Amino acid sequence: MNGETETAGGRVHQGRDEVYIDGRWQPAAAGELIDVVDPVTEQVIARVPAGDARDVNAAVRAARRALPGWGATARARRASILAGAAALMAERRDEIAATIAAELGAPVAFATAVHTDMPTAVMRTFAELASEHPFEERIGNSRVFHEPVGVVGAITPWNYPLHQVVAKVAPALAAGCTVVLKPAEDTPLVAQLVAEILDAAGLPAGVFNLVTGLGPVAGQALAEHPEVDLVSFTGSTAVGRRIGEVAGGSVKRVALELGGKSANVILPGADLARAVNVGVANVFANSGQTCSAWTRMLVDTARYDEAVEIAAAASAKYVPGERLGPVVNAKQRDRVRGYIRKGVEEGARIAAGGPDAPDDLPTGYYVRPTVFADVDPGMTIAQEEIFGPVVVLIRYEDEEDALRIANGTVYGLAGAVWGADEEQAVAFARRMDTGQVDINGGRFNPKAPFGGYKQSGVGRELGPHGLLEYLQTKSLQL
Ligand code: NAD
Repeated sequence: MNGETETAGGRVHQGRDEVYIDGRWQPAAAGELIDVVDPVTEQVIARVPAGDARDVNAAVRAARRALPGWGATARARRASILAGAAALMAERRDEIAATIAAELGAPVAFATAVHTDMPTAVMRTFAELASEHPFEERIGNSRVFHEPVGVVGAITPWNYPLHQVVAKVAPALAAGCTVVLKPAEDTPLVAQLVAEILDAAGLPAGVFNLVTGLGPVAGQALAEHPEVDLVSFTGSTAVGRRIGEVAGGSVKRVALELGGKSANVILPGADLARAVNVGVANVFANSGQTCSAWTRMLVDTARYDEAVEIAAAASAKYVPGERLGPVVNAKQRDRVRGYIRKGVEEGARIAAGGPDAPDDLPTGYYVRPTVFADVDPGMTIAQEEIFGPVVVLIRYEDEEDALRIANGTVYGLAGAVWGADEEQAVAFARRMDTGQVDINGGRFNPKAPFGGYKQSGVGRELGPHGLLEYLQTKSLQL
């Protein structure tokens, strides 16, 4: 299977039954294929290779061979290839968006504005950083060089299929590293488009390689491979922990972007309607499948009931099948509905939505947008990552109580603080054990460091901090 078809949303990449190694599309060692399913229609839309350890080995060896040449390539050349890739992403915008809409189930408007345009912007930032970053510095009588880490094994999840790939591949290439990518099995099609785009942008053979396949097979082989110098992983905390263990065996570096249970803290005096509406939108975007989503909304006791009403009313705008897409697969749908049932069992109150299937949708892995009230901070739905369109509202007594609740999970990925006084909100955010906080709504910054405190991960992505993950330092004393 190879090629593209026209659909109402644009041209969907139909999938190649080959892996991309050493600058060539080629059959995988074992001939087995993985079905790619459209979560809206539940139909198989493409098949891609289930690569195994042999393909990973071939890809890592190609990346190793390409490393000295790419590492020594002038930064201006690296920058121009990345800028060319960003331009090609912009040119193929409709096709990328249609492909992500088909394999993830995202509504086309969201697939375009967020899933496509955001990583295109991120690709551009790394083209800039490749040319501007100080790869050499003077510290007293030392010359300190920032050199590429080496061969990078990148393992990515399905929730933001292009962004997660670009957030690893772009800084790795900007740094002078070579890469083997193992994308999520649910969303491999857009990863194939990345391979086509990097190839067309003039990246030398072997610098970027793509092996599609199953996590415990291809992913594990990549994490274990002795010739991989850094494993950069985004996904569940359970798999991240395993990758840390495996990588420890051969003392390779790891960067881990894991789960979250971020708090949206609405301080007394904040604009309640705005904070609640933006907060609900933040959680329901991408059907709740965002690791940094503000899934716990914290409201002071005096305004709690009003906040529940506003949140329930806001959720009505997220009509499944229209503004709200399905979740990625049947397993995730059942898991999310299981959490909703668990919330009810533990005594929380459903203010909107619920565990039942939405009406009038014959196919698709949909979950009703759900708002939980009367949630105790210790409940399962307030502690575990649900990864679906579910927001929980928790009461707090005063700021100290809010801080204790906000910091009271094993995670620390993101968060939000709303206050009448920006300085007061900033002071509160400084006390949160979390990696990124939006103040009064914030504004996306593609160069701001993103990553977790506590069990949300190790390392940072995006911007100069993201680039540093792919560099190691050497100092020469003069
Ligand atoms: P996952 O961790 O199972 O998969 C992420 C990636 O790791 C995929 O490419 C997968 O193939 C690979 N993988 C799986 N097992 C592996 C192994 N043993 N060795 C190496 N690689 C392996 O996540 P998932 O199944 O996609 O989702 C499960 C849960 O993870 C979600 O419900 C959510 O809680 C969380 N999640 C978090 C993020 C995030 O950005 N933080 C993204 C997606 C999922």
